[in-house]
Amino acid sequence: MTDQPQQETIVLEARGVTKHFTVRRTGRDVAKRSRRSVHAVDDVSLQLRRGTVTALVGESGSGKSTVARLLAQLYPLTKGEIRLEGTAVKAGRGRSFRRYVRQVQLIFQDPFASLNPVHTVRYHLTRALKIHGRAGSGEEELEQNLAALLERVQLTPPQRFLDKFPHELSGGQRQRVAIARALGADPKVLLADEPVSMLDVSIRLGVLNLLKDLKDRLHLAILYITHDIASARYFADTTLVMYAGRIVEGGDSETVTQHPAHPYTQLLIASAPDPDRVVAEEEQEETGSGEPPSLIAPPAGCRFHPRCPKAMERCTTELPPRFDLADGQWAACWLYENSGSTATEQEEVSAK
Ligand code: SF4
Repeated sequence: MTDQPQQETIVLEARGVTKHFTVRRTGRDVAKRSRRSVHAVDDVSLQLRRGTVTALVGESGSGKSTVARLLAQLYPLTKGEIRLEGTAVKAGRGRSFRRYVRQVQLIFQDPFASLNPVHTVRYHLTRALKIHGRAGSGEEELEQNLAALLERVQLTPPQRFLDKFPHELSGGQRQRVAIARALGADPKVLLADEPVSMLDVSIRLGVLNLLKDLKDRLHLAILYITHDIASARYFADTTLVMYAGRIVEGGDSETVTQHPAHPYTQLLIASAPDPDRVVAEEEQEETGSGEPPSLIAPPAGCRFHPRCPKAMERCTTELPPRFDLADGQWAACWLYENSGSTATEQEEVSAK
């Protein structure tokens, strides 16, 4: 783990990124324009730094995969800005966008679905190298580049894997091929959307260790999307916690997972399976329970208030800003109103 990730160079940055999907009407109302929308992601800001892993943790439906797709430019933004190495990127426009697509690569959750079953590993990797102009000048160089990609993801000897079809590989091997294909673009950022959640438990650690190795050796900035906060502690330098489309807590992974500040992070940690811990009924009441809200009509104020055991009157009407705590940790929760300055105050101080 990097001691001071905040000193690393920012490669990719999201500023106030928002995505609302319009709800389509069906049946008799199909001709009417719907005014309803799903507030999938609201005002998300994050920074991915060279040679570090940032975990984005939350329950299913919290919007974390939508964030990955927005960063990969698969959806247009409703609001906000994405910057690659300090330059704002406009979707689908010009050389800067082509450079962006090459440098920011997305790894999907299901490696079987992301690889075409009728093509071999050789086809998938050759195509990636050719698209990104890295195939080399002849057959021999192409073979060397293919072998180098497979060696980088620890599929050795490469000749054993190059002419295999996806169904001839294990889940872990398929995910390694998907990672090798992403590396074919020579990216600076990997967006890994639940990269191990569909793999057998016994091989998850191997794939996470591979990503960690790539982070160290290639100095990649990695966004690790997961619902497993325990793996974030092991794998990520920084952890951000997302609830109902908003990021509610962030900081060094060790601090966030060992000393969670936001009641939702506390609930996530209390819900993580731990055979040594029997959760008493009182503890369940203290940490809360229930289901995430509908994002078509999200709750006013703090979106966690219907589930929060510490909710106060103002939580039902006023959206809490981000309050800074010690050691770079922060939480968007009214409980910390008197703990430090808000993000806006911080920006004003640093602008002076
Ligand atoms: Fe709970 Fe209020 Fe904090 Fe939201 S702002 S997490 S409702 S205490």
